[in-house]
Amino acid sequence: MVLQFFKSSYAKVKSALSRARSFFGEKIKSLFQGKIDEAALEKLEQFLYEVDFGVQTSKELTNKIRQLQKENPSLKPDDYYSALRSHLVSLLSRYPSALVQIPEEKLPLVILIVGVNGNGKTTSVAKLSYLLKQGNQKVLVAAADTFRAAAIEQLETWAHRLNIDIVKGTPQSDPAAVAFDALQAAKARKCDAVIVDTAGRLHTKIPLMQELEKIRRSCSKASSGGPHEVLLVLDATTGQNAIDQAKQFHKFTPLTGIILTKLDGTAKGGIVAAIQQELGIPVKFIGTGEQIDDIQPFDPQTFVDNLFE
Ligand code: GDP
Repeated sequence: MVLQFFKSSYAKVKSALSRARSFFGEKIKSLFQGKIDEAALEKLEQFLYEVDFGVQTSKELTNKIRQLQKENPSLKPDDYYSALRSHLVSLLSRYPSALVQIPEEKLPLVILIVGVNGNGKTTSVAKLSYLLKQGNQKVLVAAADTFRAAAIEQLETWAHRLNIDIVKGTPQSDPAAVAFDALQAAKARKCDAVIVDTAGRLHTKIPLMQELEKIRRSCSKASSGGPHEVLLVLDATTGQNAIDQAKQFHKFTPLTGIILTKLDGTAKGGIVAAIQQELGIPVKFIGTGEQIDDIQPFDPQTFVDNLFE
């Protein structure tokens, strides 16, 4: 079993969400200061939408407050504020955010990392390896982004720094073959996990999507039930575009989770909820900066606490 040891660091999430918190927390507080009538509720819904919660989630959260106000019109601003917080926590807890657990005999856990170039895919492979290594897991990374020589070099540098094994392809070689070789090597070396980096194929180009499917098949041939996780790396600063990307990828390669990077670079934290609600795919990790340890398992309570205050 891998990864039972993951814990979210309150301080890291707090620091990453500082921009979002000063924008979101302040505004929500001021919205609840006045009378909670229909006009105020509309403002709330509009604001939630503006900070990337998406139509569905903004409506759902506002309706909860509307219902609360109807049932008990004499509530104080603080009551609404804490009600919104707790609704958001329960909404974000609908999907399990932990990595899948597999029995010992089926190891290594195979994690396929997909996403558009620039979203932070290769960095996330390195960060995830670091996290696993912190938990005494033996990790091997596969540099299967054979379209970009720079991506192979980048992952090689990280693997060297982290002192973990890497299997890489030559530029332009078949990424499915690299993934297959990596899995064979990981089994022979008794690794706990293999993390496969893939090319940042444009999600609109169907042949590239088909190639991703070929990598997937290659993983399932070389492992027991793999890939066990297919994680899509999305950039939190791109808002609705991130949702569109996720929809495209999910259509071709069923995703098991999201790594949402660059939360430290946005003042809008709502995208976390929008992704989960609109796609039904859990956010499993969040990127909190550019350093190797700037990755956190997604924990709804820690996230919401740090978004609000
Ligand atoms: P790829 O093309 O998807 O493999 O993206 P890279 O891993 O090369 O990352 C692109 C850029 O995003 C690099 O400059 C990374 O340092 C940066 N990056 C990745 N994750 C994060 C994050 O969580 N926060 C911030 N601020 N930058 C990040």
